[in-house]
Amino acid sequence: MTFQDNVTRAIGNTPLIKLKRASELTGCTILGKAEFMNPGQSVKDRAALFIIEDAIARGALKPGGVIVEGTAGNTGIGLAMVADALGFRTVIVIPETQSQEKKDALRTFGAELVEVPAVPYANPNNYVKISGRLAAELAASEPNGAIWANQFDNVANREGHIRTTGPEIWEQTGGRVDGFVSAVGTGGTLAGVGMALKAKNKDVKIALADPKGAALFSYYTTGVLKSEGSSITEGIGQGRITKNLEDAPIDLAYQIPDEEGIPLLFDLIAQEGLCLGGSSGINIAGAIRLAKDLGPGKTIVTILCDSGTRYQSKLFNPEFLRSKGIPVPEWLIRPSRITV
Ligand code: PMP
Repeated sequence: MTFQDNVTRAIGNTPLIKLKRASELTGCTILGKAEFMNPGQSVKDRAALFIIEDAIARGALKPGGVIVEGTAGNTGIGLAMVADALGFRTVIVIPETQSQEKKDALRTFGAELVEVPAVPYANPNNYVKISGRLAAELAASEPNGAIWANQFDNVANREGHIRTTGPEIWEQTGGRVDGFVSAVGTGGTLAGVGMALKAKNKDVKIALADPKGAALFSYYTTGVLKSEGSSITEGIGQGRITKNLEDAPIDLAYQIPDEEGIPLLFDLIAQEGLCLGGSSGINIAGAIRLAKDLGPGKTIVTILCDSGTRYQSKLFNPEFLRSKGIPVPEWLIRPSRITV
């Protein structure tokens, strides 16, 4: 018999999938790590598991305790899933702008949701800051205590990628990886995978793919945190150097507008059967740019962060796309020709 003890043991060991069109376009082998195949259906399951296991090991999280977090959704879904499996509760503070599908998934996993207006990090009522205050209150009032997961500045997050995602990519490519590229939410994925790959081979190029509205492209190219524009993607786009990003070995940075990243998602569905979320589009556009910079024959890896099904009401909604000036794929508006 082969089985896992519980669902948390099914996190990680995701396959690498060749991205055919991106590879043909560049003459490189562009591979996507299929993180949407994690049990909570995103790359954030890894961070959730490492943050919870670290809190248990430190004695901070006791049986029946509460895990509090501010999250764009995927970390919350991962935390709620792991918490359910291991006997904890979750309270999630989420900006109301995030997709209905993610909010529904959080409720389905039993998380208590606190929806708050989306305001910048500098505002004391930013969702991350509210979650920190709420965790301190619940730590005092809850019978089994509470912890703040604090994914942005808790380096147990990137440790998950140093110990799992990075080594998996090294093994799966037989050490023949030339570049890795990813967008940043907390920075756990980019910094953690970057550190793990550089430890194996310092010549592997690590690149940031930054959406419009984030400040990191400016930071890694000019040293100044500055942002302009906006993006419809969720879960990525950072305005500060989080603890997870400190000392991240970043060689190159690209700024990817939605007009470049989002249409790739439609082609991937139609031609490769891959239905992915917006951040994956930014990542794949980044991988194409890195491949062009490194030249043909190289192997580039990026992250397929979550599934497009998590954004059906937005990314695959013709009205929403039109309102954002993004061309609507014809099959989304094509009436069915079949009658019975
Ligand atoms: N894509 C999606 C859809 C996400 O939810 C996140 C995490 N917020 C990321 C990418 C970025 O991952 P990280 O936090 O490791 O930078």
